[in-house]
Formats: sequence, structure tokens, C-alpha cells
Amino acid sequence: MQPGCYKWSPGTGGRRSGLIHLACLVLWSVLLLPGPAGAAAGKISVAASIPPLGDFCRHLGGDLVQVQVLIPPGASPHAFEPVPSVMARASQARVFVYIGAGLEPWAEKLLHAQGPGDQVVVEAARGVPLLGMAGHHHGEGKAEAHPAAGQADPHDSHLGGNPHIWLDPVLAQDICRKISQAFIQVDPEHRAQYEANLQNYLADLEKLNQEIESQARNWQLRDFVSFHPSFTYFARRYNLHEAGTIEESPGREPTPRHLQDLVASIRRLGIKVVFAEPQLNPQVAEVIAQEAGVKVLTLDPMGGQPPYGEDYLQLMRYNLAELNRALK
Ligand SMILES: [Zn+2]
Repeated sequence: MQPGCYKWSPGTGGRRSGLIHLACLVLWSVLLLPGPAGAAAGKISVAASIPPLGDFCRHLGGDLVQVQVLIPPGASPHAFEPVPSVMARASQARVFVYIGAGLEPWAEKLLHAQGPGDQVVVEAARGVPLLGMAGHHHGEGKAEAHPAAGQADPHDSHLGGNPHIWLDPVLAQDICRKISQAFIQVDPEHRAQYEANLQNYLADLEKLNQEIESQARNWQLRDFVSFHPSFTYFARRYNLHEAGTIEESPGREPTPRHLQDLVASIRRLGIKVVFAEPQLNPQVAEVIAQEAGVKVLTLDPMGGQPPYGEDYLQLMRYNLAELNRALK
């Protein structure tokens, strides 16, 4: 962590090098102590729970922020148990961004434990009317509050409703406004820069929204089977119908009865594809597909995989292409 010090110290043991070394240590202390570990000097340190939030933060903060994503690509946030170093990064960041709505129970515990401090916290789902986890059971198209989520099922990590709001590009704009406000709050000097970044990125998100809307209008099929209820807000936005989900509680094996019902729905509705997700075991999706005689495609709610990487816009265009293959 102190490369400069080793380079500058010739190792003669002389007074001069000792002084330089001391100066070096002081310099590093000044750089390291007040700011959180991992933040480059002068940049706002930001910790984001999932890759899409990290990507929003990078676009909205530009060169002014240093972003760390806490849940690595490929991991399901529903099964994520942070190690102490991840907890430390979350608590030391100047700005902490998470979804809320029960997606990151560890984050809620952490924030509760550390109490109100200097950190500016963005809870993306705050103020957003949440859908239930199984939107199709409650009737789609309604932004209802979710009073009973998780009540009957202690394994359901989605306490508080369905947290997958970032997959609706219009709700994503709302999240970006919140993040931008947080950046302005901690760094008001650069307000104009943050506001310009926000306007640029909102335009990109709106373009994406219109692109999906115009393609979705032409889809013959409106029903789809998701792997877990991750595209529920997306479905509501573009008038699709989540006819069923393979794992209503992510990471939890569906019952044989549930699988039979799904296969029956797939046949009845003429569904051609079931979706798997890279973060969850696709085996059940393959079993259902075989049973119903349909294909398996992959929708990715998180990103971080090639070819789209952590870029949200590219991720959503990949998902759009998969939906085009399934629903056209
Ligand atoms: Zn999920």
C-alpha cells in the first residue's frame, strides 16, 4: 500500500532517508486515515450493493467518484452473505447505495448497527410502490403495496415486496435521480457536473425505454415464464404477463406440484421459451423446458458477465434481444 515509500528509501539508514520515510508515512496517514480505504485521493468513495447500481454511480459521478460494487458479478444477491471486509467497505464509503425492499438484509442490519453518521445512504426502493413477489397471483398491472410478503414464508428473502425495480428503465431513472442528489449533497461544489451527468444518463435511459417499448409492441406473445420474479416491473412497464415463475423464492427448489402447474400453463398459453438466470442454477428450467417441449433462454437481472459486462444499458439490450427471440 506504500509503494512510493519503498521506492524513495535507498536503504542506507541515513538521516535523510529516514526523514523522507517519515514524511512518506505522514503523507500516507493523511491520505488514508480520514478517507475510507480504497478511495483514490480527492474522489468520493461510493459503495454500491449490486452491479447495476454501481454502473449508475459511475455514469452519474464520472471522474469525481470511486465506485466499488459489493456483490460480485455472478452471485445472487438473495444468497449473498458478506464477509467482514465487504461490510467494512460498505460502512467506510462516503456514499452507500443499495436497493432495499429486503434485497440486502445485511445492509439494513449494518445501517441499523452503525447508526446515523456522516455517510450518505441511498435506498433506491424508498418511496417506490412495490409489487408483491408473485405479481401474477395478485393480478398484474397494479402498483400495490405488499403487506404480506414473506409473512408466511420465513425463507423468502424479499421481505417488503419485490425489490427488482432497477429492471424497469423508468424506475431506473428515479434511482439515478436519488443517487445524483446524494452526490450533490456530499460534494456541492461539483453540482453542475453531477446535474449534467444526470441529464445525459437520463436521456440514455429514456432512449432505452423507448427502444424496448417499440419492440415490445410487436411481440406476438405476451406471456412468459421467468426463473424468479426479477422481471416483474419490466413486465408491468411493457404490458407483458409473467405467467409463472420457476422459483418464487429464489434459490429454493419448487415443488413438483408447482412444476406441473407451470408446464400446464406453458402448454395452455403457447409459451415457447422458459428463462434461466446466470446467478441461479438453471437445472430446473431445463427440466421444465424438456417436459413442456420448449427452449431455455437466459435473462440476466444483474449483469457482470460477457458480453455486456457491468454496463446496464448493454445488459438491458441483451435482455431485450433474448425477449425478442422468445416473444416475437
Ligand atoms: Zn432477485
